[in-house]
Amino acid sequence: MDAGRCDGKEGDAMSARLFPDDILFFQRLLRSDSLYLGELDGIWGPITEAAAVEFERRADAIAAAVGTFDARSENNIRTLAARAQRPARAFLQRVRAAGIGARIISGTRTYAMQEALYRQGRFGNPGPRVTNARGGQSNHNFGIAWDIGIFTAGGGYVTDGPAYDAAAAAGAAPELAWGGDWVGFVDKPHWQFATGMAAAELRARFESGDWP
Ligand SMILES: [Zn+2]
Repeated sequence: MDAGRCDGKEGDAMSARLFPDDILFFQRLLRSDSLYLGELDGIWGPITEAAAVEFERRADAIAAAVGTFDARSENNIRTLAARAQRPARAFLQRVRAAGIGARIISGTRTYAMQEALYRQGRFGNPGPRVTNARGGQSNHNFGIAWDIGIFTAGGGYVTDGPAYDAAAAAGAAPELAWGGDWVGFVDKPHWQFATGMAAAELRARFESGDWP
């Protein structure tokens, strides 16, 4: 067994790899946190592996420092860029401390995942239309956005606005932007880490890896 083969095996052994079907996307996500400085080539190698390990280490440290939640929220928080994970956890903690049964039910989506969601309810596909954003057009595609669902003690899904207004009152913070404040398309379950960049700039930087 030569060293190169060992490296390959090590990479294959990593169990918690995010977005295994889209390595380029994961490299871009890691680059957005300045964790991956190699080529954005979609090829899993030692530099990508090292960045992924550091990403997991940061995620674990943030979880240990801020607190953990239900499994669904945990799975979604851990898809976010590392720099968005602390604000997301602190947000959920504030909302839950107010007695609101919120969970984070959606996090980062690859462009392909977003495009599949866009096609729902369109082009003859079944289901309701749930987004107007195509792949690469949603803030969920850049690792900074999450959606909450509010659930009753019995597990019922609350869909009415007032509960989401109450969550906003409890969860708002200067580093966050709320979809309920948007003009035009109001999206009360939607929250994101405020980057100060418009979506077009965010997309350009995410794709090129050219961050300030
Ligand atoms: Zn959203």
